[in-house]
Amino acid sequence: MQFIHESRPVRVVFGAGRIAHLAEEATRLGLQRILAISTPRKRFLAERVVEALGDRAAGVYAHAAMHVPLATAEAARAEAARLGCDGYVAIGGGSTIGLAKAIALESGLPIIAIPTTYSGSEMTAIWGLTIEGEKRTGRDERVRPRVVIYDPELTLSLPPAIAGPSGINALAHCVEALYAVDASPVIQLMAEEGIRALSRSLPVVAREPENLEGRTLALYGAWLAGAALGAATLGLHHKLCHMLGGSFNLPHAEVHTIILPHAAAYNAPAAPDALARVARAMGSTDAPGALFDLAAALGAPTALRDIGMRFEDLDRAADLVLRSPYPNPAPLTRDGIRQLLDDAYHGRRPKGTGV
Ligand code: NAD
Repeated sequence: MQFIHESRPVRVVFGAGRIAHLAEEATRLGLQRILAISTPRKRFLAERVVEALGDRAAGVYAHAAMHVPLATAEAARAEAARLGCDGYVAIGGGSTIGLAKAIALESGLPIIAIPTTYSGSEMTAIWGLTIEGEKRTGRDERVRPRVVIYDPELTLSLPPAIAGPSGINALAHCVEALYAVDASPVIQLMAEEGIRALSRSLPVVAREPENLEGRTLALYGAWLAGAALGAATLGLHHKLCHMLGGSFNLPHAEVHTIILPHAAAYNAPAAPDALARVARAMGSTDAPGALFDLAAALGAPTALRDIGMRFEDLDRAADLVLRSPYPNPAPLTRDGIRQLLDDAYHGRRPKGTGV
């Protein structure tokens, strides 16, 4: 056994009603002039943050947008500087947290993240910016939130149509962490527990959106998934989804939902132990099939053609994902990737792989 495990200094505050601890957490960080960040539609959440912070709130910036356009990031940086902010509270999904990261990338000031989806961005040092239509990403410890407050009550309003794909996006982090070249045994334990929590809770969330216990278990799974994403180098699945989202303008969480069973099937022969752990956590003996069935049971999309992908773009997509090398358990072949994309395009259930 050989591994490197690095503990990441993120303080996690978890539980229903925990948003009430925000002011205390700001005090612990010594923050005095805080910018509350949200999307335009979730401005009321940023206003809740302002109310909780009292005179330590410097203002609201409610212009976060998908994939962090550079112009949005620059305007937010200018506003934070104008207000003399010494820290940020991002409340919302990955898009909102992404904007806070884009500001912190320059200023190095601390972020408190209050996630309301299952994207996992709150636990990572990964930033993303869309510059001239192309999404660029990188890693920088300055953007990793210092404190994350997980309050499942804030996720009660997340509609099943968003919660399902968002939850499977989280599951994908766990699946790929299980076979990542640099995942430590501790991260693998977290990933397996994340799969267990998400695969049990997401059907409950879909059936009974008001069920706080189900929402709590899903958010717990999302935390574990975010921790896995933040600690491991992920492979084919994430590369493929990143490319499909960026180059073909497909919705982030839905792409993850559709690709995951096929990426799992592709890697199963090369990573049988990891896929056996996925299956075990899902109470199945066939991980790719179980992942496909879960998406279908949630009413989430299972075919790329249903979310705007064009058949004639599959060849270009296969070429793009092979452009730069990255670690992946199964060797990456043009024919293999093209077949994967064809299966995902048509929404075929992966054939049983035995794990
Ligand atoms: P998102 O932030 O765009 O949110 C999706 C939708 O859910 C939005 O319409 C939002 O208004 C709505 N929403 C959010 N919380 C809600 C709530 N509680 N109730 C009702 N509606 C709610 O999308 P996302 O899936 O959370 O994040 C995707 C983005 O995050 C992508 O840009 C992706 O690249 C990025 N991401 C980054 C990382 C990272 O580590 N840097 C990790 C994962 C995702």
